[in-house]
Amino acid sequence: MSLTTTPAARARAAARRSWWADGLEAAMWLAAVSGIALMIAAGGLQATSGADWLYTLGRALGIVAAVLMMTQVLLASRAPWVERAIGHDRAIAKHTRLGKVAIILMLIHATLLTTASGIFDGRDPVSQFLAWPQYGWFMLFAQIAVATFVVVLITSLTAVRLRWPYERWHAVHMLVYFGVAFAVPHQFLEGSTFRTGGLSWWFWAVLWTVSIGSFVAYRLIRPLVLLARHDLRVAAVDTLADGSTSVTLEGRDLARLRAQAGQFFLWRFLSPQLRTQSHPYSLSAAPGDRLRITVKPSGTGSSAVRSLTPGTRVLVEGPLGVFTHGSRTASHLVLVCAGIGVTPVRSMLEAAQEGDTITVVVRARSREEAPLLDELEALAAERGADLHVLLGHRGDTWGTREQPALIKDFVDDPRGADVYICGPRAWALSVEADALAAGVPRDSVHREEFGW
Ligand SMILES: Cc1cc2nc3c(=O)[nH]c(=O)nc-3n(C[C@H](O)[C@H](O)[C@H](O)COP(=O)(O)OP(=O)(O)OC[C@H]3O[C@@H](n4cnc5c(N)ncnc54)[C@H](O)[C@@H]3O)c2cc1C
Repeated sequence: MSLTTTPAARARAAARRSWWADGLEAAMWLAAVSGIALMIAAGGLQATSGADWLYTLGRALGIVAAVLMMTQVLLASRAPWVERAIGHDRAIAKHTRLGKVAIILMLIHATLLTTASGIFDGRDPVSQFLAWPQYGWFMLFAQIAVATFVVVLITSLTAVRLRWPYERWHAVHMLVYFGVAFAVPHQFLEGSTFRTGGLSWWFWAVLWTVSIGSFVAYRLIRPLVLLARHDLRVAAVDTLADGSTSVTLEGRDLARLRAQAGQFFLWRFLSPQLRTQSHPYSLSAAPGDRLRITVKPSGTGSSAVRSLTPGTRVLVEGPLGVFTHGSRTASHLVLVCAGIGVTPVRSMLEAAQEGDTITVVVRARSREEAPLLDELEALAAERGADLHVLLGHRGDTWGTREQPALIKDFVDDPRGADVYICGPRAWALSVEADALAAGVPRDSVHREEFGW
């Protein structure tokens, strides 16, 4: 994998990424505005009575909600151009935010149209809602979509309150896609903006095809294609002194995966215990003929990794994430990690180029609890990196009580440094805040989150 090397090339790559991210957001709002313009062009702005106004507003909100739905499906599709443009965790954060707004707007759309149509037809809103299927099967589908979105909204709140396990929350969350699929037909068959054929029909059809098509292609079909193409299997399983497990994987022509050090995959090990779960784990070694991950046991899925046996087949989604050398903007590479956050840092160190100025800072309670520390020490010596291991208890800084630390202790020229941070969220946020306060530019601070 070629790396972006010169500062000018790095600056151009950073500008391109930011352009793509802004472009995606602009495209979303442009699509919403265009949809409303097409609605008006189709005569959708007849507002002579209060009910007309409700109806018009309901239709406009429906269009905005549908565009937000398309965008959130696209953001969760793992399409490589989305992942490269904004990075996986930012894509998922945006997906979550847009998803909530989209569901609420979708419910307001249904309420307004039901109320206004009820006024036109002389029915109360409940009778009008129940009467929708008389208009066609697609309105029954729309009702199912509304019911699904209500269930998702209520269970999202319950899941937070009851602290559901990730798998249960995820299963309910997947209902959103079911709801989206049921909501689409009435937009083409009932809504008077897109039903009429011509430009507006094509406009809407292309948007939905890109969104749902990317989801089906990258989340459902691609993992199966990768399994067939690479025949990825567990080659070795090693339990480490700190209790983590390293899993080495082998397969055919792994270079074609174009994985980069620091990236992660979603791994579905096809063993009886793990085949129903897919978990994100970063590469803990630079990718080559083999891949390697290192997993700390934290719940049922990660604890079961140590019982994997060589030969187990593996379905993967990825590679994902922009915590890579490709995101660098400056020449001084500063890698800061704590706990199992060492995994992407270790692979990035291994993939660092000769001549790079590298500083690595590792924080841990004790040597015994620091995964992969011996490997990191060997690599740091080999790459000529300046390695600092901060051991001890929590203190006033993100270092330890015994060895306090601030970014300025390790970086002479903050404008010439890229700081990569991976570790527990609260700790990583305090390193990030310190890096920004020290004068490291926003685009040069890279943080990988191990939870969404
Ligand atoms: C980008 C990324 C890279 C990661 N890299 C590593 C790594 O290199 N080594 C390592 O040990 N851990 C890594 N993790 C964390 C790891 O994914 C979770 O610890 C693991 O999925 C927990 O699953 P569980 O069944 O053991 O625990 P659970 O008790 O089911 O979950 C514990 C918490 O882990 C998170 N989680 C669980 N399953 C998933 C999932 N499928 N997707 C996203 N989050 C989930 C949730 O926040 C949940 O609250 C990474 C996480 C992310 C997001």
